[in-house]
Amino acid sequence: MNIIDLRSDTVTLPTKEMMDAIQNAKLGDDVLEDDFVVKKLEDETAKLTGKDAALFVPSGTMGNIISIMVHCPRGSEVILGDKSHTFKYEAGGISALGGIHSAQLSNNSDGTIDIDKIKTSIREDNVHFPKTACISLENSHNLCNGSPINIEYLSQVYNIAQENNLKVHTDGARIFNSAVALNLELKELTTYTDSITFCLSKGLSAPIGSMVCGTKEFIYHARRTRKILGGGMRQVGILASAGLISISKMTNQLKTDHLHLSQLANGLSQIKKIEINPTNYKTNILYFSITNNPFSDEEFIQHMEKQGIRFFALSKNKFRLVTHSGISDKDIHFTLNVFNNILN
Ligand SMILES: *Cc1c(COP(=O)(O)O)cnc(C)c1O
Repeated sequence: MNIIDLRSDTVTLPTKEMMDAIQNAKLGDDVLEDDFVVKKLEDETAKLTGKDAALFVPSGTMGNIISIMVHCPRGSEVILGDKSHTFKYEAGGISALGGIHSAQLSNNSDGTIDIDKIKTSIREDNVHFPKTACISLENSHNLCNGSPINIEYLSQVYNIAQENNLKVHTDGARIFNSAVALNLELKELTTYTDSITFCLSKGLSAPIGSMVCGTKEFIYHARRTRKILGGGMRQVGILASAGLISISKMTNQLKTDHLHLSQLANGLSQIKKIEINPTNYKTNILYFSITNNPFSDEEFIQHMEKQGIRFFALSKNKFRLVTHSGISDKDIHFTLNVFNNILN
């Protein structure tokens, strides 16, 4: 049976063009800075984000840990959202590996943190307090409905950071989704942040890899921190060759992914038992819950999988659907039919 896999955009497979590029990549030792393909990917990424330099890393998780470790000395504090990926899903790495304290402020449903909350959580200079060093945002915000964060908000946060001598890091795992949703050049969305990470291996279909971007000096330290974490890789042009195709050719696909998601949201919102909030989804992630579900969450997931539809329950009665290049128009129709049949 054909499975419609809506668990995550990480399930995307490399395209035929990527597999060809991988096979033909001219390789070198990247720890010795000898791999031309990696250099090219880093240069192109720096241009796209409007930053001085970029670094290829194995995962988004490592990219965030590296960035926050470079911005925050041991014992200092990062301000982040309580629904951020870094706080919830990175195994406490900034604390375990970086000795970094975190102030966890509540995320709104659109992925922002109230500006006033940020302002009041910046520490005064006092021997009792950790020193605030960095504000970390997430764009688009995974757990907050895949919301894209707009430039006005980003610039407000950046100004506060500048006034207080803090750095801003952006976990932009899906920053291209935000750029597409807001109809902006990537560069515009990366203006008001000192560093940004994004994933090649989600909606952009590369098999492995993320990018970290920032100033030359930041990337110099990031490269060393990557080495500390064991993330220096040798003939990694084999992966960078796919990444080059991700950034040059795969971003258009995201428009289709967003269209598919809004079709899912519209269709599901017409089913009485399904609660979707908000209804105007802007990127490729959708959350819903079910009222009077005749099944337990686990049974429901199993039941749907038997019908060929796979997705996650992230917490009790909180289900998530994610669209990506492996999902076709037909899959969307089929999925809506199955939901209708099971819940009506
Ligand atoms: C997926 C994701 C990451 C981490 O990426 P990995 O490559 O899976 O480590 C970081 N932040 C957000 C918002 C993500 O969705």
